[in-house]
This record gives sequence, C-alpha cells and structure tokens, in this order.
Amino acid sequence: MAKTLKIGDRVVVDRERLNDLLSSIRAMGYEIHGPTVGDGAIILGRIDSDADLPIGWRDRQDAGTYRLERREDEAVFGYAVGPHSWKRLLFPPHRTLWQAEREGARFHLLPMREDTPRCALFGVRPCEMAAIRVQDRVLMGGPYRDPDYARRREACLIVVVDCHEPGGACFCASLGTGPTEAGEGWDLALTEVLQGHHRFVVRIGSVRGLEAVREVPWRDATPADLDAAAKQTERAVRRMGRKMDPVGAKEVLYDSASDPHWEEIAQRCLVCGNCTMVCPTCFCVNVRDATSLDGSRAERERVWDSCFSLEYSYIHGGSVRFSPYARYRHWMTHKLASWQDQFGSLGCVGCGRCIVWCPVGIDITEEMETFRANVGRKKEAAR
Ligand code: SF4
Ligand code: SF4
Repeated sequence: MAKTLKIGDRVVVDRERLNDLLSSIRAMGYEIHGPTVGDGAIILGRIDSDADLPIGWRDRQDAGTYRLERREDEAVFGYAVGPHSWKRLLFPPHRTLWQAEREGARFHLLPMREDTPRCALFGVRPCEMAAIRVQDRVLMGGPYRDPDYARRREACLIVVVDCHEPGGACFCASLGTGPTEAGEGWDLALTEVLQGHHRFVVRIGSVRGLEAVREVPWRDATPADLDAAAKQTERAVRRMGRKMDPVGAKEVLYDSASDPHWEEIAQRCLVCGNCTMVCPTCFCVNVRDATSLDGSRAERERVWDSCFSLEYSYIHGGSVRFSPYARYRHWMTHKLASWQDQFGSLGCVGCGRCIVWCPVGIDITEEMETFRANVGRKKEAAR
C-alpha cells in the first residue's frame, strides 16, 4: 500500500517533476508568481511553467552593484534575491481604498471589489519568509488589522526555496533568518540539491502543501538526500557575504543618537529612498485623495512611501525629519532598535537588498559595526 503523506514529512521530487508540482498548485486554483529574468535582474512575475524560472542564472551582488551571469549548471534557484520582494503582492504599491460618486448634493460610496486572487508565492527565500512574518505582525498583529493585507495573506500558498547561492551582501545566517527555512507560515519548503541527480527535498508544512505534493510523483527522502541538502545549507552559510551581530543592537543605536558618524553617512546618502522600496519589511505608506475635474467622482488611494522623503514627516508647516542625517538615523534606528520595542523583533531580516540597491553602496552592517565600536570606545573612555 502506498504511504500516506502527512504534515512534517520530507520527500523528494525530481527536477524533471517540477512542472508537475506547478501544475498541481495551479489545479488547486492558484495563480503562481515567482522569480523570473527581466530588466537585467531576477524579478517576480507570473510563472506558467518551469521555463519561466531563472534556470542557469546567478546574480553577483555587492554594495551598490548587481549583475546577472550565466551559471555553469542548470540550477533553477541558483541566485540570491533580486530587487523585488513579495510585499508587492501582499501589500501592493498602489491600492484604492474607496471610490465615491456624486448623487445630487451628496456622495455615495461605490462598492469595491473585495475578491482576492488566490496566489501561490513560489520560490520565497527563508529571509523573505521571515520578512512576511514581520509584516504579518505589523499589519495583522495589533488592534488595527489591515483587511486588504489579511485577505491576501490568507489567500496565498507559500513555497519556500532554501538558498544555496547567497549573495555578497546577504547576512541572514547571522540573524538566524536563513539560508534554510526554520520558521512557520509556509506550505512547502524545498531544498534544491544539485549534487548527483538534480532533485528537490520537499518539507510539507500544511494541509495545502500536502494537497499540492500528493498529486506529484515523489519518493521518501533518504538519509543521503537529507545529508546532501544539509551540506548545501552549510556551504551557503560559509559563503555568506556579510554578517551582523544583532546582540545589543538596540542599546548601541539608542546610545548613538548624537554620534557624529550619522553626519558622515548623510554626506554620502542621496535620500533617494531605494533602500526602503526594496526592503521586504518596510511598510510606510501615504494616502492620496483625488477628485475628477467636474467634481462627480472622488477616490482615496494608498501608495508606498518612504521615511527618506521630506514629505513623509511633514506636519502643519514643516518636516519633522528635515535633514538627511535625521532621516537615515530614523530608518536605521527603527529597523534595528525601536522596531524591537514596537513589534518584538528586528525590522531587518538580512536580505542585503538595501546594500545592493543603494546607488552609493551604504552598508547597514558596516554602519552598525561603526556605531558599536564608537559606543565601545565611549564606554572605555568613561571608565
Ligand atoms: S541609504 Fe542609499 S538607498 Fe537609502 S536613501 Fe540613502 S542613498 Fe538612497
Ligand atoms: S534593512 Fe536591508 S538587509 Fe534588512 S531586511 Fe531591509 S533591505 Fe534587507
């Protein structure tokens, strides 16, 4: 009798069967989104078959630099992360909150489409899964639950793929958010094994994940499969480009509020906001109202914003964070210190995007080390 699969099982799906897994997920009613090559980068797009995935590509990334290159093998997930993060799908950059129409002297609200597409997020990195958990806490965890985010989040199926090719700016290993998935919230977690026969070790994390795998040819994972997957993860940890010590980060940054080093960073920072746009946990938004020229219609839209924009902290006549100094200090202190007070975790998952996509290569890990060293020196001098 064929073995019955259950949550927590580890099975192997051969590379040749990856399309079967995609078909099975599609048959469950999900539109699949995942990594694909576009605009000279790995971006997120619709996935209709494995041919849409970035087979045989790697990304070379470091502070202020990103390049795609061909790999010498046919790895499907042989890259780190690109500029897009999954918040584009769960917390879209533009969202109409309401629309209204004039009716005589009054306005009435128009019914909004509330149907949420069933979306499969295929190829989520462990650090990105950690970022989704952070956004879950921010957008659904408190008394003010974001209904749009909650609907999208509940309607999605998540397939995590462990990282075997970390980038030069990645530091998830030091924050405990990767390169293998150890948290919750996913349906399937895959490790791509390149050694020997090209295959995927698949962990089943939910009933939906179980349903997706059931229809795909699989076999039990052997100790040799698990060992090969573990070796790949160990290798990825060793090759991680950067690290950041999270211990004491909050205290260090609170002690650094008047460190002159902020001014040195501000001399380099262009306040372009790229770091916040690519960050998978940043959630700043603005709300815009617009009316038609004839005054017959009105609508309110929510759009991504950035704490680096001058307008973001504008309150009756002036901006609270007027200087680049104040804006960078706010961003970094929030990510690594006050986020912990607000949400009980760091606001950074170590994906490295803010380092790579910063046009001048400002590096949050390096800046953190500088502040840590300066606080250490200050304490030493006070003894
Ligand atoms: S740190 Fe870099 S990416 Fe962020 S605002 Fe400054 S220049 Fe732009
Ligand atoms: S702060 Fe930078 S490294 Fe941390 S999660 Fe955001 S983009 Fe990634």
